[in-house]
Amino acid sequence: MIFVRTPIIAGNWKMNMNPSETAEFVKAVKDNLPSADSVESVIAAPAVDLPALLENAKGSELKVAAENCYFEDKGAFTGETSPKVLKDMGVDYVIIGHSERRDYFHETDEDINKKAHAIFQNGLLPIICCGESLETREAGEAEEWVSRQVKAALKGLSANQVGQLVIAYEPIWAIGTGKTASADQAEEICAVIRKTVASLYDQTVADKVRIQYGGSVKPANVKELMAKEDIDGGLVGGASLVPESFLQLVHFK
Ligand code: PGA
Repeated sequence: MIFVRTPIIAGNWKMNMNPSETAEFVKAVKDNLPSADSVESVIAAPAVDLPALLENAKGSELKVAAENCYFEDKGAFTGETSPKVLKDMGVDYVIIGHSERRDYFHETDEDINKKAHAIFQNGLLPIICCGESLETREAGEAEEWVSRQVKAALKGLSANQVGQLVIAYEPIWAIGTGKTASADQAEEICAVIRKTVASLYDQTVADKVRIQYGGSVKPANVKELMAKEDIDGGLVGGASLVPESFLQLVHFK
């Protein structure tokens, strides 16, 4: 049986919006989103914007993601946000392992794995990011690099958990640069990710995992990327900040 994966388009706002802009954005898109059975629409926002996002998204097809979390439920971790609190607020997904978090905030594969476990323990779902630098790509090591990141992030997760999560392939050289990986380049690595999951678990689990491409996705290229067999969605930074553009992305079909 061929498993049908529901596409998932997630806006990753990064550190760009305040709560009132968040409320305005959601009001502008909430009544025009596709049904979540057809395409899942997600916005990932900074922790301070989550109350405005959740409040305004109520009753709509919009799902809500945090951009990061810590791996402990509570305690003396100044400035952190726990997955337990995110669950209590009503959040659906948490992005972990974004290259900006790995590079600027020194997050390790081990941290990302601990976060993945903590997210599942609290009934949320992770969107796990991976992706190579230009240097790694030019050295011909992109496949190996990404496969290693995926293995490290999934360590110790059950087949059932892995079947539900999302992996975002984001080549660092394509993020915020306007340089999109070609649909073939993106597909090549997304296929490697699915194969990696199949080798760790089995083909059924690999067929369930949704794999997003991220890196300068925009209305003009979304359709071509989404047509690829192993690309099941997009993680979108810049082009997700404007309501009209976000709506075009989620309506790529
Ligand atoms: P971009 O960012 O769409 O602005 O390239 C993607 C991301 O970092 O998730």
